[in-house]
Amino acid sequence: MAVGVLALQGSFNEHIAVLRRLGVKGVEIRKPEQLQYVDSLIIPGGESTTMAKLAELHNLFPALREFVKMGKPVWGTCAGLIFLANKALGQKTGGQDLVGGLDCTVHRNFFGSQIQSFEAELLVPELAAKEGGPETFRGVFIRAPAIIDVGPDVQVLADYPVPSDKVVNSAVASGSVGEKSGSNKVIVAVRQGNLLATAFHPELTADSRWHSYFLKMGNETGEGTSSCISIREMEDLRGIRAPKNDLPIFLS
Ligand code: GLN
Repeated sequence: MAVGVLALQGSFNEHIAVLRRLGVKGVEIRKPEQLQYVDSLIIPGGESTTMAKLAELHNLFPALREFVKMGKPVWGTCAGLIFLANKALGQKTGGQDLVGGLDCTVHRNFFGSQIQSFEAELLVPELAAKEGGPETFRGVFIRAPAIIDVGPDVQVLADYPVPSDKVVNSAVASGSVGEKSGSNKVIVAVRQGNLLATAFHPELTADSRWHSYFLKMGNETGEGTSSCISIREMEDLRGIRAPKNDLPIFLS
Protein backbone atom coordinates (compact mmCIF):
# COMPACT_ATOMS: atom_id res chain seq x y z
CA MET A 1 0.00 0.00 0.00
CA ALA A 2 1.38 3.40 -0.93
CA VAL A 3 0.17 6.59 0.67
CA GLY A 4 0.76 9.82 -1.19
CA VAL A 5 1.68 12.90 0.80
CA LEU A 6 1.29 16.22 -0.96
CA ALA A 7 4.80 17.60 -0.72
CA LEU A 8 4.56 21.15 -1.96
CA GLN A 9 5.14 22.80 1.39
CA GLY A 10 4.51 22.24 5.09
CA SER A 11 4.79 19.19 7.32
CA PHE A 12 4.87 16.40 4.73
CA ASN A 13 8.13 14.93 6.05
CA GLU A 14 6.58 14.46 9.47
CA HIS A 15 3.64 12.57 8.00
CA ILE A 16 5.99 10.34 6.02
CA ALA A 17 7.96 9.64 9.21
CA VAL A 18 4.83 8.50 11.06
CA LEU A 19 3.80 6.30 8.13
CA ARG A 20 7.27 4.77 8.17
CA ARG A 21 6.89 3.99 11.86
CA LEU A 22 3.70 2.15 10.94
CA GLY A 23 5.51 0.23 8.22
CA VAL A 24 3.85 2.10 5.34
CA LYS A 25 5.56 3.82 2.46
CA GLY A 26 4.74 7.52 2.10
CA VAL A 27 5.29 8.89 -1.38
CA GLU A 28 5.92 12.57 -1.98
CA ILE A 29 3.46 13.98 -4.49
CA ARG A 30 4.36 17.07 -6.46
CA LYS A 31 2.94 16.40 -9.91
CA PRO A 32 -0.58 15.42 -11.04
CA GLU A 33 0.56 12.22 -12.75
CA GLN A 34 2.10 10.90 -9.53
CA LEU A 35 -1.36 10.58 -7.98
CA GLN A 36 -2.22 7.56 -10.08
CA TYR A 37 0.37 5.46 -8.23
CA VAL A 38 -0.99 5.98 -4.74
CA ASP A 39 -4.08 4.55 -3.05
CA SER A 40 -4.69 7.40 -0.65
CA LEU A 41 -3.44 10.90 0.01
CA ILE A 42 -2.50 13.09 2.95
CA ILE A 43 -2.59 16.86 2.47
CA PRO A 44 -0.39 18.21 5.25
CA GLY A 45 -0.48 21.37 7.31
CA GLY A 46 1.51 24.38 6.27
CA GLU A 47 0.27 27.60 4.75
CA SER A 48 -2.79 27.02 2.64
CA THR A 49 -2.42 30.14 0.47
CA THR A 50 1.16 29.25 -0.43
CA MET A 51 0.24 25.62 -0.93
CA ALA A 52 -2.64 26.61 -3.19
CA LYS A 53 -0.35 28.81 -5.29
CA LEU A 54 2.11 25.96 -5.68
CA ALA A 55 -0.69 23.52 -6.49
CA GLU A 56 -1.94 25.94 -9.12
CA LEU A 57 1.55 26.28 -10.56
CA HIS A 58 1.90 22.51 -10.88
CA ASN A 59 -1.64 22.17 -12.27
CA LEU A 60 -2.56 19.86 -9.41
CA PHE A 61 -6.11 20.98 -8.67
CA PRO A 62 -7.95 18.99 -11.37
CA ALA A 63 -6.09 15.79 -10.42
CA LEU A 64 -6.67 16.36 -6.71
CA ARG A 65 -10.39 16.92 -7.27
CA GLU A 66 -10.56 13.80 -9.41
CA PHE A 67 -8.75 11.80 -6.69
CA VAL A 68 -11.34 12.91 -4.12
CA LYS A 69 -14.23 12.13 -6.49
CA MET A 70 -12.88 8.64 -7.13
CA GLY A 71 -13.56 7.86 -3.49
CA LYS A 72 -9.92 7.34 -2.55
CA PRO A 73 -9.15 8.18 1.07
CA VAL A 74 -7.86 11.71 1.54
CA TRP A 75 -6.85 13.24 4.86
CA GLY A 76 -6.28 16.94 5.29
CA THR A 77 -4.50 18.22 8.37
CA CYS A 78 -4.78 21.91 9.23
CA ALA A 79 -4.01 23.71 5.93
CA GLY A 80 -4.94 20.39 4.30
CA LEU A 81 -8.35 20.62 5.96
CA ILE A 82 -8.78 24.07 4.40
CA PHE A 83 -7.92 22.53 1.03
CA LEU A 84 -10.64 19.90 1.39
CA ALA A 85 -13.41 22.18 2.63
CA ASN A 86 -16.19 23.23 0.28
CA LYS A 87 -16.11 26.68 1.80
CA ALA A 88 -13.43 28.68 3.61
CA LEU A 89 -13.74 31.94 5.53
CA GLY A 90 -10.92 34.28 6.45
CA GLN A 91 -9.03 33.78 3.24
CA LYS A 92 -6.55 36.32 1.94
CA THR A 93 -7.91 38.91 -0.50
CA GLY A 94 -8.78 37.22 -3.76
CA GLY A 95 -9.29 33.93 -1.95
CA GLN A 96 -7.57 30.74 -2.89
CA ASP A 97 -8.51 27.70 -4.87
CA LEU A 98 -9.82 24.78 -2.85
CA VAL A 99 -9.97 21.11 -3.72
CA GLY A 100 -13.32 20.82 -1.96
CA GLY A 101 -15.43 17.74 -1.44
CA LEU A 102 -15.80 18.01 2.30
CA ASP A 103 -19.22 19.45 3.08
CA CYS A 104 -18.21 22.00 5.67
CA THR A 105 -17.29 25.61 6.24
CA VAL A 106 -13.85 26.14 7.66
CA HIS A 107 -12.57 29.35 9.25
CA ARG A 108 -8.87 30.00 8.62
CA ASN A 109 -6.75 31.07 11.58
CA PHE A 110 -9.80 30.71 13.79
CA PHE A 111 -7.85 30.58 17.03
CA GLY A 112 -5.70 33.62 16.24
CA SER A 113 -2.15 34.27 15.21
CA GLN A 114 0.94 32.11 15.45
CA ILE A 115 1.63 33.04 19.10
CA GLN A 116 -1.86 31.87 20.02
CA SER A 117 -0.99 28.36 18.93
CA PHE A 118 -1.67 25.81 21.66
CA GLU A 119 -1.99 22.17 22.63
CA ALA A 120 -5.13 20.64 24.10
CA GLU A 121 -6.49 17.27 25.17
CA LEU A 122 -9.37 16.43 22.88
CA LEU A 123 -12.09 13.91 23.51
CA VAL A 124 -11.91 11.37 20.66
CA PRO A 125 -14.44 8.58 21.32
CA GLU A 126 -14.60 7.34 17.72
CA LEU A 127 -10.82 7.18 17.40
CA ALA A 128 -10.48 5.35 20.72
CA ALA A 129 -13.26 2.91 19.74
CA LYS A 130 -11.51 2.03 16.48
CA GLU A 131 -7.87 2.27 17.51
CA GLY A 132 -7.92 1.62 21.24
CA GLY A 133 -5.87 3.68 23.65
CA PRO A 134 -7.01 6.64 25.70
CA GLU A 135 -10.29 8.48 25.10
CA THR A 136 -8.32 11.66 24.59
CA PHE A 137 -5.79 12.84 22.03
CA ARG A 138 -3.25 15.64 22.44
CA GLY A 139 -4.09 18.09 19.67
CA VAL A 140 -1.36 20.45 18.47
CA PHE A 141 -3.02 23.56 17.05
CA ILE A 142 -0.72 25.81 15.04
CA ARG A 143 -2.49 28.88 13.73
CA ALA A 144 -5.24 26.41 13.25
CA PRO A 145 -8.50 26.60 11.38
CA ALA A 146 -11.80 25.45 12.89
CA ILE A 147 -14.82 23.93 11.24
CA ILE A 148 -17.81 26.10 11.97
CA ASP A 149 -20.50 24.32 9.99
CA VAL A 150 -20.96 20.81 8.64
CA GLY A 151 -23.39 19.11 6.28
CA PRO A 152 -25.57 16.12 7.24
CA ASP A 153 -23.14 13.47 5.96
CA VAL A 154 -20.25 14.69 8.03
CA GLN A 155 -19.37 12.79 11.18
CA VAL A 156 -17.86 14.91 13.93
CA LEU A 157 -14.88 13.16 15.51
CA ALA A 158 -13.65 15.88 17.85
CA ASP A 159 -14.59 19.35 18.94
CA TYR A 160 -13.10 22.06 21.09
CA PRO A 161 -14.60 24.76 23.36
CA VAL A 162 -14.58 28.18 21.79
CA PRO A 163 -12.62 30.79 23.72
CA SER A 164 -15.05 33.05 25.56
CA ASP A 165 -13.94 36.18 23.70
CA LYS A 166 -14.64 34.57 20.39
CA VAL A 167 -17.71 35.76 18.55
CA VAL A 168 -19.20 32.87 16.69
CA ASN A 169 -22.47 32.96 14.87
CA SER A 170 -24.63 30.01 13.93
CA ALA A 171 -21.41 28.34 13.34
CA VAL A 172 -20.81 26.81 16.69
CA ALA A 173 -20.76 23.08 16.43
CA SER A 174 -24.06 21.39 16.65
CA GLY A 175 -24.26 17.66 16.71
CA SER A 176 -20.73 17.56 18.04
CA VAL A 177 -19.16 14.98 20.29
CA GLY A 178 -19.59 16.89 23.53
CA GLU A 179 -22.57 18.39 25.31
CA LYS A 180 -24.89 19.78 22.73
CA SER A 181 -27.09 22.26 24.46
CA GLY A 182 -25.53 25.64 25.10
CA SER A 183 -22.08 24.36 24.28
CA ASN A 184 -19.65 26.79 22.72
CA LYS A 185 -17.69 24.45 20.60
CA VAL A 186 -16.15 24.36 17.20
CA ILE A 187 -15.39 21.20 15.28
CA VAL A 188 -11.77 20.15 14.90
CA ALA A 189 -11.93 16.64 13.39
CA VAL A 190 -14.43 15.17 10.93
CA ARG A 191 -14.99 12.31 8.57
CA GLN A 192 -17.19 12.21 5.50
CA GLY A 193 -16.91 8.86 3.75
CA ASN A 194 -13.45 8.74 2.18
CA LEU A 195 -12.47 12.13 3.58
CA LEU A 196 -10.84 12.75 6.94
CA ALA A 197 -9.89 16.19 8.24
CA THR A 198 -8.23 17.43 11.39
CA ALA A 199 -7.59 21.06 12.34
CA PHE A 200 -4.62 19.98 14.45
CA HIS A 201 -1.34 18.17 13.68
CA PRO A 202 -1.27 14.46 14.67
CA GLU A 203 2.00 14.06 12.76
CA LEU A 204 3.73 16.18 15.41
CA THR A 205 2.84 13.83 18.26
CA ALA A 206 3.98 10.35 19.18
CA ASP A 207 0.40 9.05 19.10
CA SER A 208 -0.07 7.52 15.65
CA ARG A 209 -3.72 6.52 16.04
CA TRP A 210 -5.04 9.05 13.50
CA HIS A 211 -2.62 7.67 10.94
CA SER A 212 -3.72 4.10 11.69
CA TYR A 213 -7.34 5.17 11.49
CA PHE A 214 -6.73 6.80 8.10
CA LEU A 215 -4.90 3.75 6.75
CA LYS A 216 -7.91 1.59 7.56
CA MET A 217 -10.30 3.91 5.71
CA GLY A 218 -9.04 2.50 2.41
CA ASN A 219 -10.31 -0.95 3.29
CA GLU A 220 -13.63 0.34 4.59
CA THR A 221 -14.43 2.31 1.44
CA GLY A 222 -13.20 -0.48 -0.83
CA GLU A 223 -10.28 1.63 -1.98
CA GLY A 224 -6.64 1.28 -1.22
CA THR A 225 -6.17 -2.22 -2.52
CA SER A 226 -6.08 -1.57 -6.23
CA SER A 227 -2.39 -0.87 -6.73
CA CYS A 228 -0.73 -3.68 -8.59
CA ILE A 229 2.73 -2.19 -9.01
CA SER A 230 5.40 -2.74 -6.42
CA ILE A 231 6.78 0.01 -4.23
CA ARG A 232 10.08 -0.40 -6.03
CA GLU A 233 8.49 0.05 -9.46
CA MET A 234 6.59 2.99 -8.20
CA GLU A 235 9.68 4.64 -6.79
CA ASP A 236 11.47 4.18 -10.05
CA LEU A 237 8.81 6.08 -11.90
CA ARG A 238 10.25 9.30 -13.08
CA GLY A 239 9.69 12.16 -10.72
CA ILE A 240 8.49 10.11 -7.80
CA ARG A 241 11.91 9.76 -6.29
CA ALA A 242 12.47 13.47 -6.38
CA PRO A 243 15.39 14.77 -4.36
CA LYS A 244 14.47 15.68 -0.81
CA ASN A 245 12.74 18.98 -0.79
CA ASP A 246 14.96 21.44 0.97
CA LEU A 247 12.24 23.90 1.78
CA PRO A 248 12.07 24.58 5.48
CA ILE A 249 9.02 23.27 7.26
CA PHE A 250 6.90 26.31 7.72
CA LEU A 251 3.74 26.10 9.73
CA SER A 252 2.08 29.45 9.58
N1 GLN B 1 -3.13 29.07 9.15
C1 GLN B 1 -2.67 28.22 8.10
C2 GLN B 1 -3.43 28.48 6.80
O1 GLN B 1 -4.38 29.12 6.79
C3 GLN B 1 -2.78 26.77 8.47
C4 GLN B 1 -1.85 26.46 9.59
C5 GLN B 1 -1.35 25.07 9.63
O2 GLN B 1 -1.50 24.28 8.68
N2 GLN B 1 -0.67 24.75 10.70
O3 GLN B 1 -3.04 27.97 5.81
